[in-house]
Amino acid sequence: MGQKVQGTEDLYGSHMRAWQRMQDVARELFGAYGFDMIETPALEQVDTFVHGIGESTDVVRKEMFRAFSGALLDGLLAKGSESGLKPRQRMALRPEGTAGVVRAAVENNFVPQGAAPVKLWYAEPMFRGERPQKGRLRQFHQVGVEWLGAPDPASDAECIIMLMEYFKRLGFDPARLTLSINSMGDAACRPAYREKVRSFILDHADEMCEECLERAEVNPLRAFDCKNDYCREVMKGAPLAPENLCDDCAAHYAQVKRYLDAAGVAYAEDSTLVRGLDYYTRTVFEVEVAGSGVGAIGGGGRYDGLMELEGGKPTPGLGFAVGFERIVLALAAQGVELAGEEPSCVYVAGTSADERQAVFVATLSLRQAGIRAEADYQGRSLKSQFKQADKLHALLAVVLGPDEVAAGMATIRDMSTHEQVQVPMAELAEAVVARLS
Ligand code: AMP
Repeated sequence: MGQKVQGTEDLYGSHMRAWQRMQDVARELFGAYGFDMIETPALEQVDTFVHGIGESTDVVRKEMFRAFSGALLDGLLAKGSESGLKPRQRMALRPEGTAGVVRAAVENNFVPQGAAPVKLWYAEPMFRGERPQKGRLRQFHQVGVEWLGAPDPASDAECIIMLMEYFKRLGFDPARLTLSINSMGDAACRPAYREKVRSFILDHADEMCEECLERAEVNPLRAFDCKNDYCREVMKGAPLAPENLCDDCAAHYAQVKRYLDAAGVAYAEDSTLVRGLDYYTRTVFEVEVAGSGVGAIGGGGRYDGLMELEGGKPTPGLGFAVGFERIVLALAAQGVELAGEEPSCVYVAGTSADERQAVFVATLSLRQAGIRAEADYQGRSLKSQFKQADKLHALLAVVLGPDEVAAGMATIRDMSTHEQVQVPMAELAEAVVARLS
């Protein structure tokens, strides 16, 4: 018997309904903010992620699932190196959504110079080679948005407001959500700040782990995120980003906060919030649910340099992503079921096999009227057809016996009150629709 890969899940039943609900809520809410849906390929050239996410990030260095055709792999194994491969032969499954959307925006020229911003959202599986555990999968699902061509701090605030509204509409108690924000500076002030953090780590080398010492050289800000408590304790004394912003970044951050205040959105400033991907500039944010034990349920930020990193013209942008599986867990911890009820239906029952033809026609007519209709395909008795109707959450049953069929009539039975009415067969769909509404 085949087995699914560890850290992947089959999506069906209530889990699938929950995923669909997350998309429905997103479509309605993000649509009101002017976002259209996009789907980029799950398979991209490795360079798309290396340029965008950053060579030094854990996601690119350790977690990306690489993909090779069988023919290519044979050659690679024989040679022991992929150094001779062309960029188009080096592929990976996307570990996150932003780099692919930005690649698509550059390739298809979504934001020509001087054009209005483009606003896109997606709902897609992501792939990361992590050690599977609760809330951490190798194939997981994200809903995310990317807003390209928007430099205004109002767009940072609107993005955050939309994210918080999304969580509310999914069923979260807003009082239990913690929104953390920070500003990481830009190309003007970040290099000097990075250097300060690097020096700080090297000054405290004997108090920090090996990995942080490595980070000092490749990506010093990541030391704020170290899993070792003792490193994080040392980093409490490190220079903080908001105190090292240039005037433009400081003004941008202050304006974002003024907009959030005006909208009545509560936030906590966390000067150590850095997020794992290199492309972020200025505003970054993350949302956690108190007491859920699943870590961040979503986060994002501004990435004004990313379009250029992907080969496009300088174009500011920002976005966020939320993780479906963690949202389901966090909601369940609050006693909220995201999936909603199983769908109801109308069940068409025949009193004997002689009515099979009439049942067939009646079922089709209901479906053509847009009603979820079911019938028996296994020769069940009438009693067991009613049982089946209950199991399928039928609100109404249409019962067809020899007398009804001979008279061109059908009986509609309310499954909860057991009330029955007879209607002409020709008016069945109309009568059922009227009763259901
Ligand atoms: P990130 O792209 O790492 O900022 O992740 C955005 C969101 O995706 C997180 O807040 C999580 O909700 C979710 N997420 C990230 N990695 C995983 C994973 N391995 N398994 C499940 N959800 C994840």
